[in-house]
Amino acid sequence: MDLKDLYRDVILDHNKRPRNFGKLEPCDSSADGNNPLCGDRLTITLRLDGDRIDDIRFEGKGCAISTASASLMTEAVKGLDRSAIQNLHAQVHHTLTDHGGALPPAELGKLAALAGVREYPARVKCASLCWHTLDAALAHVGAPDAASAASVSTE
Ligand code: ZN
Repeated sequence: MDLKDLYRDVILDHNKRPRNFGKLEPCDSSADGNNPLCGDRLTITLRLDGDRIDDIRFEGKGCAISTASASLMTEAVKGLDRSAIQNLHAQVHHTLTDHGGALPPAELGKLAALAGVREYPARVKCASLCWHTLDAALAHVGAPDAASAASVSTE
């Protein structure tokens, strides 16, 4: 099995059986993400333990790439603090947009499967929607209107 098959299998698996799918109630913050180009919509709810993500869920409707990316993301960020999440987001962004064909760094783990999206530039927003939505949810923690979801659009 070559790398492309492996990437495809991870994406298909996470689309078919999304991990951490649903809604946390109560939650410390939530955000809605919308990618109008593709029609992907998702809602992220999370609970914090200090600066770390204690638990996170997502729900929504979108294409296979947006769903798989959100599923992979929720697995990857659980237990991480804000700076580790920022670092991971930057690495995912680089992996999604690096056209030099370099292999993704080993610390990406299963998120490396998103490197397959590089070949479909129109789908990069599908894969990055969940990360922008997570950023919005983290920025929204403690906001005066924290009970309502923050919202973010890729446009
Ligand atoms: Zn999409």
